[in-house]
Parts: sequence; structure tokens; C-alpha cells
Amino acid sequence: MDYVIITRDDDKSKRLAERFHALVKPHGFRVNAEQPELVLTIGGDGTLLQAFHQYTDRLDSTGFLGIHTGHLGFYADWHPEQMEHLVHLMLTEDLEEKVVSYPLVSIELETSSGSKKWLALNECTLKGIDHTMVAEIKLNDELFVQFRGDGICISSPSGSTAYNKSLGGAIIHPSFEGIQIAEIASINNRVFRSLGSSILLPEHHHCEIFPRAQQNLLFTVDQLSSTHHEIYKLRCAVAEEKIRFVRYLPFTFWNRVREAFIE
Ligand code: NAP
Repeated sequence: MDYVIITRDDDKSKRLAERFHALVKPHGFRVNAEQPELVLTIGGDGTLLQAFHQYTDRLDSTGFLGIHTGHLGFYADWHPEQMEHLVHLMLTEDLEEKVVSYPLVSIELETSSGSKKWLALNECTLKGIDHTMVAEIKLNDELFVQFRGDGICISSPSGSTAYNKSLGGAIIHPSFEGIQIAEIASINNRVFRSLGSSILLPEHHHCEIFPRAQQNLLFTVDQLSSTHHEIYKLRCAVAEEKIRFVRYLPFTFWNRVREAFIE
């Protein structure tokens, strides 16, 4: 198998990576950073987000798997002590039969410098920097709301447990093909009104945000961020591409939600 390891920048994660290399080398596994069949991350969910953005051009032929060296994650869900067992499963099971695919957010940002596309594993956000963000939000080309507030977060189902959850958004099972739009501190009074709750768009719908001209805005895609003075439009929808996770062991999303947030 051709694989690559992306680690968080700490000694424990780097030591585990060395251990993994030593365990699989006798079995003919090869490190191939250009065309890996498997991207193994060692660190946290943030490490897997970083790896995802490194390999977005190979999503159809690469599987992702995460080992956590901090707390149990949603993407990084293997414990370091399970590494020998993981290697055994890699040697005995067919990777392709163990793949589950999760939806992503497709993003197109139009600014004064042109148009650019991204994929988000967790979410994208648009936020005011020095003032309230004022923006028109359209759903399927029809005006939905004139928004005023800190910003807007548009998340994937697997990203619903991240920033979206802190905003009071719902937790969505990753088999649901949709995107969630959550308000970030919207202004609601006699003059300005927004929905106040998050909404879920199905796979064939899209959302567009048209910020008022000349606002300083922070645009984020997962852990990446950039600032802009003139954003014309942000368009989001469910992406055609998906991320493929390698699930060698049964994974129950709702158990993970309970373990992460309740007990
Ligand atoms: P970060 O400090 O690397 O990540 C913030 C926390 O979010 C970390 O504890 C991370 O877990 C966790 N996380 C990431 N993806 C998750 C998921 N799908 N479900 C549950 N928890 C998840 O922050 P960053 O580098 O700026 O941005 C990375 C992510 O942080 C963003 O995609 C966003 O979702 C999240 N974030 C959250 C808030 C908030 O909740 N108020 C604010 C900003 C950003 P690990 O420790 O395992 O890496």
C-alpha cells in the first residue's frame, strides 16, 4: 500500500509516525506523498483537516484515517495503543471495502481579484472584522434575509460538531447530504430581523451571500483564513466531491457525539 503520514508538530505524534513506518515496512508498504492510497494523520481533528487540504485533488482515490494523540476526535478516532491492531487490519482487510464517504461544502468566492473555489471538510465562515457584517442572503437565487451580525457559518454534516455546534446549530449525521447555515451573533430587534435559527439545505439547493460593498471581512475555510475588503459573492452548496474515510472498525456517530459532549 502507498501511504503518507501527516503529524501534528509534537514529539509524541512524530514518535508514533516512526513506529508506524517500522511496523509496515516489512510488509511492503511504501511512503508515497504524491499519490497515496491512504493518508494517515497522527494528532487531532485539526491535523486531519490540514491533511484534507493537502490532498483535495486526490479525494476520489485516497482514504483518510486519523490516530489521536490528544483527546478522542471525530476524524482522529484511533487510539495510539491500537496501532498494532490497525496494521493487522490493513494487512488483512481490503481498504476499498472499508471506505465510507462524507459530504463536503463546495465554496466559490468572488472578490475584486477574481473568483476562487474551495472544498471545506468542516465549514466556511464569513465574518465582519471591525464592524457588523451586513449581507443579503439568497437561497436558490431568491432573497431570504438581509443579515446583520458577526457573520455566517456554513457547515458540512461532519463539521456540524465543530464551530457550528458552538453557534447552537444542530448536529447532523454525516450520511445526510446537505449543508447547514448558522448565524453568528445576528442582530435582532425592532429594526433588524433574521431567522435566529440555523437551516439545513438539501443537496440540490444552494446559498449565496452578497456582503454590502467595502466591508473588511474575514473568510475562513476550516483552519484556513484570509481577509478581504471587497467580497462580491460567496456561494455554497453540497460538493460533488466527497471525503473517503477508512473505517476498519464499526463507527457509531451518535456514540462519538455522546462520548465527546455528554460523558
Ligand atoms: P483549532 O484550535 O485547531 O480547532 C478547534 C477545536 O475544534 C479543536 O479542539 C479541534 O479538535 C476541534 N474540531 C475540529 N474539527 C472538529 C469536528 N469536525 N468536530 C468536533 N470538533 C472538531 O482551530 P482552527 O485551526 O482555527 O480551526 C479548525 C476548526 O476549529 C474549524 O474548522 C472550526 O470548526 C473550529 N473552530 C471552532 C470555533 C468554536 O467552536 N467557537 C471557533 C473557531 C474554529 P482537535 O483538538 O482534535 O484538533
